[in-house]
Amino acid sequence: MTAITLTVGDDGIAIALMDLPGRPMNVVNDELMTALAAAADRLIGDPEIKGMVLTSAKSDFCAGGDIDRISKLENAQQAFDATMQMKAVLRRLETCGKPVVAALNGHALGGGLEIALACHARVALDDPKLKLGQPEVKLGLLPGGGGTVRLPRLVGIQQALQIMAEGNDISPAKALAMGLLTELAATPDELMARARAWALANPKAKQPWDAPKFRFPGGDSRAPAVAQMFAIGPSMASARSYGNYPAVTHIMSAVFEGGLLDFEAASVVESRYFAACAMSAESRNMIGTLWYQLNAIKKGASRPHGVAPSKVGKVGILGAGMMGAGIAYVSAKVGIEVVLLDSTTEAAERGKAYSQGLLDKAVKKGRSTAEKRAALLSRITPTTDYALLAGCDLVIEAVFEDRAVKAGVTKLAEAQMAATAVFASNTSTLPITGLAAASVRPTHFLGLHFFSPVDKMPLVEIIVGGTGPQAAGTPPPPEGVPSPGGAGSTRTSDETLARGFDYVLQIGKTPIVVNDSRGFYTSRVFGTYVMEGITMLKEGVHPRSIEVAGLQAGMPMPPLALQDEVSLSLGLFVAEQTKKDLASEGKSCSEHPGMSVVRQLCEIGRVGKKVGKGFYDWAEAGKSLWPELATLYPVAAEQPAQRELIDRLLFAQANEAARCLEEGVLRSVADGNIGSIFGWGFAPFQGGALQFIDAMGVPAFVERARELAARHGARFEPAPLLVALAQRGRRLADH
Ligand code: NAD
Repeated sequence: MTAITLTVGDDGIAIALMDLPGRPMNVVNDELMTALAAAADRLIGDPEIKGMVLTSAKSDFCAGGDIDRISKLENAQQAFDATMQMKAVLRRLETCGKPVVAALNGHALGGGLEIALACHARVALDDPKLKLGQPEVKLGLLPGGGGTVRLPRLVGIQQALQIMAEGNDISPAKALAMGLLTELAATPDELMARARAWALANPKAKQPWDAPKFRFPGGDSRAPAVAQMFAIGPSMASARSYGNYPAVTHIMSAVFEGGLLDFEAASVVESRYFAACAMSAESRNMIGTLWYQLNAIKKGASRPHGVAPSKVGKVGILGAGMMGAGIAYVSAKVGIEVVLLDSTTEAAERGKAYSQGLLDKAVKKGRSTAEKRAALLSRITPTTDYALLAGCDLVIEAVFEDRAVKAGVTKLAEAQMAATAVFASNTSTLPITGLAAASVRPTHFLGLHFFSPVDKMPLVEIIVGGTGPQAAGTPPPPEGVPSPGGAGSTRTSDETLARGFDYVLQIGKTPIVVNDSRGFYTSRVFGTYVMEGITMLKEGVHPRSIEVAGLQAGMPMPPLALQDEVSLSLGLFVAEQTKKDLASEGKSCSEHPGMSVVRQLCEIGRVGKKVGKGFYDWAEAGKSLWPELATLYPVAAEQPAQRELIDRLLFAQANEAARCLEEGVLRSVADGNIGSIFGWGFAPFQGGALQFIDAMGVPAFVERARELAARHGARFEPAPLLVALAQRGRRLADH
């Protein structure tokens, strides 16, 4: 079976149908390129064939490069050669003297779009869900199949740079407007008819860049407007990324240099920059986590085996506040019936109005229609009546963060729910095991920790609660750590966990699964980031240096600004609550050195953004660091190197993540990495909080952590698990 079959019609147009055997999608690999080369040979050699329409038998046209193949490239030469081979095939196709038309029946992304760009015309199905784009940058790569050469020559340098440096999808309508597509078709039949007609009408098709008088649309790199853009573009990109994403710089360099060179020379330059990207640590980290580990998670690596797949038809949501309203929206959006309950009708209706607001915006922007809005809203029933929860497969509580209130609604809801239905809490801080004590069937109880705003944040942290035998898939606790529970399990059952997992996938989010612990995984590790920044302030580090260090580390928001957003009073409340809880268990906990700063600011009413003042003064026009911080925390005469600050912020998080793995809170390295990037934005180019350690090498991490501990405190002492791994020469990924 070959990856491309050629059928020649009576009109002399060959239909080349891509259908990579044994794969759900077409991807650019040796098999596909060999078949494409053979199709080009046939087109060139067979006088009966007048032209070719390239399309796909699969639902996509071509999803992009074969990441397995890219991740196996061992050195720059291999990377260079691989892309040059692909380019040779595409160049032969586009200079064959006969028309080649791409009929895009589905997504054409990355290498898939590059194949289409090497065709003389591109006709696409006019389906807003069809994705076109060059997303390579999101894995630290650049389009190495001629994308940086053809795209600027087709749509102009500025638009091409935006497409490649941002990596976002483009809809067919937008692609047509910018000249990336030649035509749109309403149906698959029309698609093929139009592609065929184009080939017949253009028997001597040539690429514009092969015409003797070719000019870049908008000018080449020498044109004044383009040169001006290149003068500021790289520094603007660097200001945003702090130089952490070399692929962005390489894309700009390839396009700039390519815009001064002829087609062939530009193609060679592109392959050199591709090789630099493919060999970069950033790309390895991102491919490892955002491709392999993410795919494994989505395929159910953390889902208990042997439990039949499930779907939620009706969900009950208790509490129609910020979180409940968001959960209602994302559930109704995928067709689930929602009962949105609050203590008053007004509050419940306000929760539903949140969906109305989101949908109104979407309709206005053309991202949804009035019919879809009406359908979604009709699925949300606001109420105060618990009886409406009958028939729910799942009930999620998102009421106030108060044990007694949560226990009350749990009891009321369970009285109406079927014995088999699942009850979930969206608590952000209260251990699930304790909340499950209010449940009459704790094995059906779990944590579903959403992030705010729910409609935007991609992660849900699933928390397995209760005591009892370890659930399937849980790594045994390390030596010296007791196994939770014993007989008479009140632990979340495997079936409940699987059903929670399935629901998270059903609403299009990414689930990670963790065992119960104070702050679970995400809040616990995220807290170390902001607290480290706050501790620096106390030590006399200039607040501006702290904030810049956060951004240089690759975090989406600097620590002091982030604590202001979350609110200092909430941070203090959680810390005090934790202290009380531990005291009631006869345990003590040492307070983080930064907590005294939080307390001090709360005492003077600077509790964060919600009151317009915290570490920053928050105004309509923007925020600025509170000048009086320097009075409370005088800036030390000698300031530490920026590297020291960056390391402190990253090591604090990574070490805590390693402790979570060691304690069995984290059940897998993949959950740890994905949870850190999707949950609180841990520097994506590092591949996540645990990959940060592996990429550096566990022994190097241990050594540097000890240095930081000697200078800044015992919290940096490397997790014993890391010390053990370093001694054995192993990585966390082998754990
Ligand atoms: P919120 O104050 O906006 O909403 C809580 C809602 O619960 C209110 O509408 C309130 O009227 C309702 N409520 C309170 N008691 C009730 C009762 N007895 N019966 C029915 N309804 C009742 O709070 P929120 O920010 O949406 O948080 C809700 C839960 O989600 C909390 O447990 C919180 O810790 C958790 N959480 C919040 C965030 C966040 O960023 N805000 C993130 C993750 C989890």
